[in-house]
Amino acid sequence: MKISSVEAVPLLASFKTMFRFGTSDRSASPNVVVIIRTDEGPTGYGEACPVPAFTSETQNSVVELLEERVAPVLVGRDPRHRLPLLHDLAHSLTSAPFTLAAVDTALLDLVGRALDVPVHTLLGGGFRERIEVHGSVGWDESAGMMVETALKQADTYRWLKLYAGRGDVDADLDRLQAVRDAVGPDVGLFVDINAMWTPSDLIRALSRIEAIGLSMLEQPLPRTAAAYQYELVGDLRVDVAADEAVRTVADAAEVVRERLATVVNLGHSKLGGPTAALHAAQIAAAGGTGVMVGSVIEMGVATAMGLHLAAALPTLSYPSYLMGPLKYRQQITEQQVEVIDGHIAVPEGPGLGFTVDERELRRLDARRHC
Ligand SMILES: [Mg+2]
Repeated sequence: MKISSVEAVPLLASFKTMFRFGTSDRSASPNVVVIIRTDEGPTGYGEACPVPAFTSETQNSVVELLEERVAPVLVGRDPRHRLPLLHDLAHSLTSAPFTLAAVDTALLDLVGRALDVPVHTLLGGGFRERIEVHGSVGWDESAGMMVETALKQADTYRWLKLYAGRGDVDADLDRLQAVRDAVGPDVGLFVDINAMWTPSDLIRALSRIEAIGLSMLEQPLPRTAAAYQYELVGDLRVDVAADEAVRTVADAAEVVRERLATVVNLGHSKLGGPTAALHAAQIAAAGGTGVMVGSVIEMGVATAMGLHLAAALPTLSYPSYLMGPLKYRQQITEQQVEVIDGHIAVPEGPGLGFTVDERELRRLDARRHC
């Protein structure tokens, strides 16, 4: 079996409502679907979702990289030799993790379909058949708006991820307290600060974090202040997760070695693919650090990949961020994620188990709308 073509389809995708976190206001999303075809028929799909907070890749650059750098390396090669292909691509795809992640995903999907096994089987097998997911409450100036968003989700999820860091520390903590008061003590809450606090902000927040009942702080400090985070972790009786600080497997190794966090967020898109995410997970496990599966709120293809990744990890410290497609106005897969009792089932069909709806894909092609 040989790869015969690599196609990139940029999508016009948008969210049902504006989603604010960190420095981002997301109402549209510049996703790109990659399609890898073979001479024998099996085809694989991957999805890039480049977001500025993590990468300087853009929708146009992802398309260009797929056409000009990925296709020449892959065409004519056997897709079943995924690791040698990724190794060769790494030479010409530096600093393009989202592009690489889409290719890694498409190769896994393709080989899974060719062998008639789900992707998590290719990754070594599944530890679970369903993945617990959390809801998310974007940052808003209005505490009332955050409370309303949280209450809408409190029946669906046992855990909610909140966002802080954009406002004044005390005002942000007031908003988090308002959410806690509204949802009651039984909903697990953690907060993503997206590296927007200073060490002083974190010290100021310490006394209120336990009172609000936050179980975990995700990336409170920027990477440059990681040493402070290391010192402050010891004073916290909550978990600290590294997200923005872990963009490569080497970053994961540093976080684990220096004990900069108790949990590593393994988004496969930001890490350059599920293969890299698995390597990072193994390093974390070897160092006794927990892991969780994050995302950048992706559509069905990348989300299905996240579900297989989460299935293949022996332990997960927190629920996964894998309800992304529910935030989109459009869907690109025939199967949809469905949250039942706070969990999403791991797809069982061959490959990703989610099949791209070709008609929808072509309808959403951003080039048709230029
Ligand atoms: Mg995060």
